[in-house]
Amino acid sequence: MPATQRMPGDYLVQFGEQLKVVCRDIAHVDLRDRNLYLIWSLYLADESGCIHGLQYRSLDLVAQEYLTSIGAWEGRGPAILLNDESLAKVVSRSTPPAWDDEQRRNRFEDLCTAIALHELAHVADDGFSRGPVPPPRIVAQHKECVMNCISAEASAEDLDDAARKCEWICHSDRWVRASLHIHHRAVKYGHWPRVFFTPHAMANNAQYGLSDILAYDGAIGDEPSRRIDDSLTDILASEPPAAFTELFKSDEARRSALITSQISANVAA
Ligand SMILES: [Zn+2]
Repeated sequence: MPATQRMPGDYLVQFGEQLKVVCRDIAHVDLRDRNLYLIWSLYLADESGCIHGLQYRSLDLVAQEYLTSIGAWEGRGPAILLNDESLAKVVSRSTPPAWDDEQRRNRFEDLCTAIALHELAHVADDGFSRGPVPPPRIVAQHKECVMNCISAEASAEDLDDAARKCEWICHSDRWVRASLHIHHRAVKYGHWPRVFFTPHAMANNAQYGLSDILAYDGAIGDEPSRRIDDSLTDILASEPPAAFTELFKSDEARRSALITSQISANVAA
């Protein structure tokens, strides 16, 4: 699988259906009566950049024309986009040359699963329900925003200060908490990729200026196992364990201090 080669479309559609089953198993209460879409960047853009995945409140509407064209549109619902191109490149770069296509495809599926679950945690943070359809002018703006994200060439390491601050804010305490619940359920239900033993593949907290995800795993205690049958929405609406809150507060203080010092440095420059 050369670095520039994309996975075949029919394979991606089939694998996307499997990923939807995984998401539905994990968010079984939240998604019980909802549509869910898994969209590959292949179908929205000829070329894509560095981003691995995204979710956006109106991503379903942005992709509605494509979903309708394949007979998959069933009305509004959360949508997750995976960038098949950048994920295939990661696999090509990070696997030994001696690996055969099947081994690389297994690694691709593991990576996609981890990224889809990362995005599912963003859906949980953002809320599963989708409101009324915004006016076409607004949907067009959202489409432009999504297409810009898909084509962005800046990797996480290359982000400027403003983009990094935005990335930090997107990965909030609610997202961390949802990630821990989702990871716990993925392991429990046999959906977590075998190659990734820890939740780092879906929650690379260092990139977001947060303590390691395993520190949060210790702070949240037995909540993920105790509340495995609850909706993620109800869990996020309830008070988190005190140790979890304390850890996030100290991370927040550190992130704010870093942002303030960066702003001061920029002003001085
Ligand atoms: Zn994220």
